[in-house]
Amino acid sequence: MTILDDKIAAFFRPEILKLNAYHVPSAEEMVKLDAMENPYHWPPEMVEAWLDRLRNIRPNRYPDPQPEHLKHALKIHAKVPENMEILLGNGSDEIIQILLMALAGKPEATVMTPQPTFVMYQQLAVSLGLKCIGVPLQKDFSLDREAMLSALDQYRPQIVFLAYPNNPSGNLFDEKVILEIIDKSPGLVILDEAYAPFAQASFMERLSQFDNLLVMRTLSKLGLAGLRLGFLAGRRAWLEQLDKLRLPYNINVLTQITAEFALANAAVFEQQTAQIRSDRTKMYQQLQNLPQVEVFPSAANFILFRVPDADTVFHKLKQQGILIKNLHPSGGLLTNCLRVTIGTPGENEVFLTALKTALTP
Ligand code: PMP
Repeated sequence: MTILDDKIAAFFRPEILKLNAYHVPSAEEMVKLDAMENPYHWPPEMVEAWLDRLRNIRPNRYPDPQPEHLKHALKIHAKVPENMEILLGNGSDEIIQILLMALAGKPEATVMTPQPTFVMYQQLAVSLGLKCIGVPLQKDFSLDREAMLSALDQYRPQIVFLAYPNNPSGNLFDEKVILEIIDKSPGLVILDEAYAPFAQASFMERLSQFDNLLVMRTLSKLGLAGLRLGFLAGRRAWLEQLDKLRLPYNINVLTQITAEFALANAAVFEQQTAQIRSDRTKMYQQLQNLPQVEVFPSAANFILFRVPDADTVFHKLKQQGILIKNLHPSGGLLTNCLRVTIGTPGENEVFLTALKTALTP
């Protein structure tokens, strides 16, 4: 240990020293099927019209701190009930951070999630000094109703995060069990509907039914991951308080203009996501035809599957220029599991051919 190591060890909280940074592998020159991105760009005339809009931007000025036009367009796009508000975040990652910041420093503050789920809930909770309880899902990645309800009783969490559909499993949890969880939760329940464009199921309409429910969305999976724009929908009373934790100019001017432009061209994204949904069905069937593969149903733009030796298959795919996500290192239910994002039909074909080779001893 050097003197600098000592200083660093003394500076950071022990839980931060133990954390692993969110790892994003390089995908240069690879078929990139690891991050749930929409693989399609825009028609050339749409790109031209967008570039025209960008000409009007004044980068010397701060962005609008409360872009009402954009918020209105998002509310219409996401069918947010009229009496509900939205709060914008730099990606839904930032919304998660804002929600958790509200609890930081509160004695006994506890957050609960099913396990496995989107890693940022736990990562951000731990980085803010909060306790995060993970309740194991069942073998088929469905919610364990009894375990969830008894953990609610035991830990009385201030926030429960439910990804709907769940990442990395891709399934939609049982609606009735979710309703029971919302009903029995002593604090907030956040329905994270990041994959809504592929799920055709939502709790948005139920916002009026519960005063402890908030629904989170993002434009990332729709096809705008590079913009970093997420939002939280719910009652004004909750959002007013959370807004105090939001940095004043968290949505930059390029994102504001581009998101408004994109939402005015929503038909393009409708068509792209419909294509992805139909290709997901094809990919699912093709994976099911492979005897060594156990494949899990998905309502998202990715598919989770299990193979006899995930590390080997992952590396063999990488050698063939294909990047997917290896979940085997997470262990537990994800042992020998891999997750592939639905790409273009061409990319999916390349992946499936390479997978067959990788599965051959
Ligand atoms: N929620 C879930 C369930 C996710 O899988 C992701 C991204 N993988 C996010 C939220 C974060 O999305 P973003 O920050 O791009 O809005």
